[in-house]
Amino acid sequence: MARKDSIIKLHAQLVNRRDALRQALAGDLSLLKALPEQTGGDVVDAALDAAQDDISSKLAEVESRELVLIDNAIERIREGNYGQCEVCNNKIPLARLNALPYAQTCIDCQRAVESGEVNIADLGLTLDTDVSFSDSEV
Ligand SMILES: [Zn+2]
Repeated sequence: MARKDSIIKLHAQLVNRRDALRQALAGDLSLLKALPEQTGGDVVDAALDAAQDDISSKLAEVESRELVLIDNAIERIREGNYGQCEVCNNKIPLARLNALPYAQTCIDCQRAVESGEVNIADLGLTLDTDVSFSDSEV
């Protein structure tokens, strides 16, 4: 599949996910639960579990954070610079975008950020450095 087609598909996924998150934040979790599993799903699932007893605060925090990243990604698609690493400006591989549609950096830069080699604040970014990626992800 051409990169452009993949991005169109990812855009649809991002919009769906954003709508589900917005609805969930408004108190309706049905749409979010109906969505197929995605990367980041573990975090949300954990939050959903926690939400059984203690709804909203933890969940809302995770979802708000994801929502910001999704909004940024949708904005970048609109601007035409989606899929470009915010740090090194190289193209982020499609496999990584498929796994994490709102990825802002390539894996190398993500690692550099996590290890503190790159200070994301210098770049004016708000990267979610709590999220770490396993070696199996591209
Ligand atoms: Zn990079």
